[in-house]
This record gives sequence, C-alpha cells and structure tokens, in this order.
Amino acid sequence: MELSPIQSVHSLECPHCKAVLLNVGPASSQVPGLTSWLTDGDAIPGVPDALPGQTQQALMPMLSVGRCAACNGHYYVAEVITLSGPLDLVYDWMAGALKEGASSNFVCRLPELQQDWCLFRTSTDAGAVSEYMMGPFPLCGGIEGPNGVSACGSPRSPWEEAREIVASQLDLIAEFQRLAEAIDAGGEQLSPA
Ligand SMILES: [Zn+2]
Repeated sequence: MELSPIQSVHSLECPHCKAVLLNVGPASSQVPGLTSWLTDGDAIPGVPDALPGQTQQALMPMLSVGRCAACNGHYYVAEVITLSGPLDLVYDWMAGALKEGASSNFVCRLPELQQDWCLFRTSTDAGAVSEYMMGPFPLCGGIEGPNGVSACGSPRSPWEEAREIVASQLDLIAEFQRLAEAIDAGGEQLSPA
C-alpha cells in the first residue's frame, strides 16, 4: 500500500480509447480541451455512512458520469468523500459553503488493484476533505437515467457496480485515510509518484 504525492502529472484515461480525460497535478486538475470530464453525479445508496472503525469520519459515496470527447464513449467514476465530522459538513463542502485552503493530490497504489486511485485532499476551515476516486470505468450506451444503463459486460446497473466497488474498498480507504493524516502530521516518508 502506497500513498504518493503527485509530483508532476497523473493522467486519467478513457477506458474505451485511452484518450486523456483528466490531468491531475500536485494541487489542481486540468481537463484537456474545452470539455467537462464529469457531467453528472449522485450519491450511491446503500453504502455505510462512515468509515470502518472511524465513527468521527463522515462518508459520502458518489457515482459520477462523463463522456469522452475523443470516442464519445461513456464512463463513470466511483468517489468516496470523507472528512472528520458530521455528514452535514460533507454537504456543506459540496455546496461550496466551506472556506478552502491548500489542495494536494495523491496516487493510491495497491498491488491487488488493477487501477490506481486518486486522492484529492483539500484543507478547509472545517478540516481536511478527502476525495478518493476510483475509475473511470466503462459504461455501455448512454445515460438515460440512474437505473437505465448497464455497466459494460455486466447485467447490473452502474449503481450496483459502484456500490459493490465502494463497499468492498472501505477498509482500504480507511487505511489510506490514516496514511493521509500521517502525511498531514508530517510523520510519513513517501516516495514520489
Ligand atoms: Zn474515449
């Protein structure tokens, strides 16, 4: 398990055609071209609202979708937003109601994961907000509605897929969260991404 600060650029690619969808830098992200990389999103139902063993850590799982400008393929990402405090604070942050400070972006690596995750960490006046992003994963067909599409190669909806991904990774996210907090405290030596 490795949590590496992004030193230059970490690119997220289209799961269909490998075009770059998002360039994640050390403290910000950039979408190539004039497109928007995620166009819609909503909370994933049926996931615990706290990290395992961390009752003070609120958790918001999100599914967001986008469409590749290069190949028109659809994709989704599963996100877990977590911070120390009540869930209302997550809503406040999503609504832009918290005053933001510095951002720092990381790559989360695990040998058993097929794909690295990204961690976007933002300091706010209510403490640090962590966004763990898994994906992008392919979607077949368009986004007609929250339950109207199937993930590629699966009869299940992306909501079911994302719920399973998030639920199965909560223990790991809790571990990465401990690493991130150790970095904040200045106690962890890390290798650059
Ligand atoms: Zn593409």
